[in-house]
Amino acid sequence: FPSRLPKVGTTIFTVMSALAAEHQAINLGQGFPDFPCDRKLIADVNEAMLADHNQYPPMIGVPNLRHGIANKIQQLYGHQYNPDSEITITAGGTQGILTAILACVSPGDEVVIIEPAYDSYRPSIELAGGKVIAVSLEATRDSDGKVASYQIPWEALSKAIHANTRLLIINTPHNPTGMVWQKSDLDRLADLLKNTSTLVLSDEVYKHMVYDGARHHSVASHPELAARSFLISSFGKTYHVTGWKVGYVAAPAPMSAEFRKVHQFNVFTVNTPMQYGLATYLSDASHYLNLPAFYQAKRDFFRAGLEKTTFKLLPTPGTYFQCVDYTALTIPEAKLSEAEFCKWLTTEVGVAAIPISAFYEKPTESGVIRFCFAKQEQTLTSALDRLQKL
Ligand code: GLN
Repeated sequence: FPSRLPKVGTTIFTVMSALAAEHQAINLGQGFPDFPCDRKLIADVNEAMLADHNQYPPMIGVPNLRHGIANKIQQLYGHQYNPDSEITITAGGTQGILTAILACVSPGDEVVIIEPAYDSYRPSIELAGGKVIAVSLEATRDSDGKVASYQIPWEALSKAIHANTRLLIINTPHNPTGMVWQKSDLDRLADLLKNTSTLVLSDEVYKHMVYDGARHHSVASHPELAARSFLISSFGKTYHVTGWKVGYVAAPAPMSAEFRKVHQFNVFTVNTPMQYGLATYLSDASHYLNLPAFYQAKRDFFRAGLEKTTFKLLPTPGTYFQCVDYTALTIPEAKLSEAEFCKWLTTEVGVAAIPISAFYEKPTESGVIRFCFAKQEQTLTSALDRLQKL
């Protein structure tokens, strides 16, 4: 059967979760919490169902939820989106990404991505007929040659972006490296895009996971960027409900109008009771205001345990992912490719992880894998016990 995506197999997250289940490994691969969400959130959804909010909602999403989101963005980032013409509820971040791309990329259009990049970007661009131009994050290295931090590749970006580049995809906090963009980075990006008609898709699904007192800098906090951006967000990450698949896309009215043309024939609408429940729950800011401290404690606990291993830890300023370099381990498997190492770690050690090479198109081996620390302490402890034996 002729394939529209000949190079695409099954997404690495599904592959590793299946392998973890098959071998009863502790799954630190795919990013999702293993602890329950707030019972109040479930009660809010329950109440919506009992109040008979069970038919199609408005195509663009339930009004209360869109208004709540607009208020929240206004308070946190200072930009006022019109909840009726500029915010659309989506079936999670990934649907928002695909829909935004289909809405603005035509065959032959150039789209710039920064690798390592979330694995849905490239196939989504290819389905739209767009041409992917990939640049890579620059790694700074310690004296021992190991990655110390990741930097935005400004020079490569300025070479890659032309006056008629259709779209640039950015992601902050960044999956998988945890890198976060600073305000000065947004300023620099706005300068770079000044004489172009390039749109921006800003994937900010980990926006409430930024640590050590730092802040998340959204395109919504930058008027010039907000005017040309699709802002992608996800409730699954923030409220510990990745299976609900509810998120949103905020964009200026003309961009949202095009987005909705595709959205209505893609999912049409997103499930009604979850939207009502989230709308009620969203009015209390305490959950997401406490999230950085909540996840920072998990990050620090996990890192302290990893310090007792020979894995080299990379910095984690944001997200719920911890990257480690395994090439310093003194076992023969330290020579394996990232994908083979992750397979071995899952099947033989009983801890699943994600190879960073899965976030690149061309085979790129940096000896780095990603663990998700959105887990109960007991899960992290069991995983650390196994990793400390290596
Ligand atoms: N974003 C999640 C991760 O990086 C996975 C999402 C998915 O499995 N599609 O682990």
